[in-house]
Parts: sequence; structure tokens; C-alpha cells
Amino acid sequence: MFDALLRPALLSASRSSRVERTVTALSSTRKLVDRFVAGESEPHAAAATRSLLDSGRLVTIDHLGEDTTDLIRARTNVDHYLELLRTLREMRESTGIVRPLEVSLKLSALGQSLPGDGHAAALEHAHLICSAAATAGVWVTVDAEDHTTTDSTLAIVRELRADFPWLGTVLQAYLRRTESDCREFSGVGSRIRLCKGAYREPASVAFQARAEVDRSYLRCLDILMHGQGYPMVATHDPALIEAAGHSARAAERRAGEFEFQMLYGIRDEEQRRLVTDGQQLRVYVPYGDQWYGYFMRRLAERPANLAFFLRSLRPANRR
Ligand SMILES: Cc1cc2nc3c(=O)[nH]c(=O)nc-3n(C[C@H](O)[C@H](O)[C@H](O)COP(=O)(O)OP(=O)(O)OC[C@H]3O[C@@H](n4cnc5c(N)ncnc54)[C@H](O)[C@@H]3O)c2cc1C
Repeated sequence: MFDALLRPALLSASRSSRVERTVTALSSTRKLVDRFVAGESEPHAAAATRSLLDSGRLVTIDHLGEDTTDLIRARTNVDHYLELLRTLREMRESTGIVRPLEVSLKLSALGQSLPGDGHAAALEHAHLICSAAATAGVWVTVDAEDHTTTDSTLAIVRELRADFPWLGTVLQAYLRRTESDCREFSGVGSRIRLCKGAYREPASVAFQARAEVDRSYLRCLDILMHGQGYPMVATHDPALIEAAGHSARAAERRAGEFEFQMLYGIRDEEQRRLVTDGQQLRVYVPYGDQWYGYFMRRLAERPANLAFFLRSLRPANRR
């Protein structure tokens, strides 16, 4: 019932401005949003980052925003990244953090879906952010969005990597094309985050059954682990986390030669366990006021998250 009906409905709702107005107006939504989102501004993101770094975890920080259809909003999103990178630079210099901090960005927040030449606008904006990140000593990874953006996103990543060879990108195991993309992107110096994929996609381009997605994830993982790049294993799934350990050993990779990644607020104990076991673990820390799409995708991932949200709507819980 959840996978067949509720998940697709929630993912459709994640792109509806009418539902967005209703959900964001509910005061009870805020409590659950706070579990998944680090706050609204750069100081909030910085505070969450410090606390995660103190616990031995790495971070990648995302200024929330997507599907931007006006240029002013796209430029404002760029400004937020430039401010964030200034904050991270100061933090790096004052604390002497050696292992690279990272920011994650969505090209649709930078103008990729603007009418006219959104592709060129996103490329220009991402180039600005990567230049600032290089100065700050911070890595960048480009998130993956719905499949209609994949060709444009990977073309932008190819172009940016000529100037910023450390640029990472995300590949989604649910897409049928991803095994072949993993082969292309597993060369020297590449950093690839492999995730299952979080959007509603048609069967023509994406595996639909969970078991098929998991099998694709394992095939992609093997390609990345045996490749020459740096695999970033983004999942909360215990079976895939265990499989990643086996795959790394089979490819003779040590703990520092790949990393696990999880989302802020999800499986905190498991995050700490991996660190205690000597693994590198990076937490994806989203912040900002455009949290609606991100929040709805988290509700669509897990019946327990949706149940918690629905319980919070009961009249007794309303303030
Ligand atoms: C760092 C990171 C970056 C990402 N970036 C992108 C991106 O750029 N593009 C994109 O499309 N998607 C992205 N995603 C989201 C991803 O595609 C999945 O939607 C999301 O991670 C859920 O898939 P899963 O692999 O965790 O497995 P799921 O199938 O959601 O969960 C599998 C199992 O994990 C366990 N589990 C999951 N959540 C919990 C929980 N809260 N508590 C306890 N157990 C739990 C349960 O055992 C569950 O059955 C990213 C995910 C991560 C972790």
C-alpha cells in the first residue's frame, strides 16, 4: 500500500505548490522538519556542522532550493552558497580541520530549469560556486534530480571537472542508465555518490521494484569500488551498508579509500557506529527555508516518517 499508493502520491505532492502552501502553513509540520533540516540560515548550518565534526563525522552542506524558475531566486541561491563557503573557510582556518568539508548543490536551484538557456545559467552559477569552494578549500558535489535533468547535469559536471577535477557527482541506482554512467565516471580522481534515487520516475527509465533497485545498487557499487575514483556510499539500508564493506574488501580498498554517507537526522546511532568502527561517514546537512520538496521526499521514503507526521496533525497536538 505504501509503495504502490502513498509513496507516488507524496512524490507528486512534493511538486505541487497548492499542497506546499497547505503543508508549510501547518505549525505542526515544523517539529518534523526540524528532525531533517538543520535550520534556516548559515549560522544554523555552521552549528550543526561543528557538532557533527566534533563527533568524528564529515559533512556535506546543502542550501535547500530546487526547481527555481526565476533568475533572481537563482542568484540569491548562489549568494547563499558564497556566504556558506565564507563561513566554512573561517571554520577551517580557525579549527585546522584537515579532511575536506563539502557542499552539495542542486543545479535546478541555480537556474537549470529557467526558460531559455537554463543549462548555461546553471553552468555559470555552479562555476562561480566551485571557484569560491576552491579558494575556501571545500569540495563540491552536484546532486542528482529527476531523470529529465540527468543529461544536462552530467554534461555540466564533465565541463566543470576540466577546471575542478575534485568535483563530485551523484548517480541514482534506480535509473536503468546508471551502470553505464558509473563506468564512465569511475576514472581517476572522480568522486561519485551512489544513492538509490528519490524522485518519482517512469518504468521506461527507472527500476520500480525495491529488489531491482537494490540489485542495481550492488552492481553499481562493484563498478565504483573496482574503479579508480572515490566511491561515496549514500544509504541507510543495513543490507547495502554491509555489502559495501564486502565490496570494498574485494576491491582491496581500505577504510579511507571510500566513505559512507547518510542524511541529517536519520539513523544517528548507525552513523556513530560506523565512525567507531573506523569508517569515514559524511552527513548530508540541509538548511534554508525552501525545505518543502526535501521534506516531502523524506516522508515518501519511510512509512514511519509519514505516520509520525500524520500523528502530529491530530487536534490534540495542534497549538
Ligand atoms: C548523503 C545522501 C545524499 C543523497 N543525495 C541524493 C541525490 O542527490 N539525489 C537523489 O535522488 N537522492 C539522494 N539521496 C536519497 C536517496 O536516493 C534515497 O532516497 C534515500 O537515501 C533513502 O534510500 P536508502 O538507501 O536509505 O534506503 P531505503 O530503501 O529508504 O531504506 C532502506 C532501509 O534502511 C533503513 N532505514 C531507512 N531510514 C531509516 C530510519 N530513519 N531509521 C531507521 N532505519 C532506516 C530501514 O531498514 C529501511 O528498510 C541521498 C541520500 C543520502 C544518504
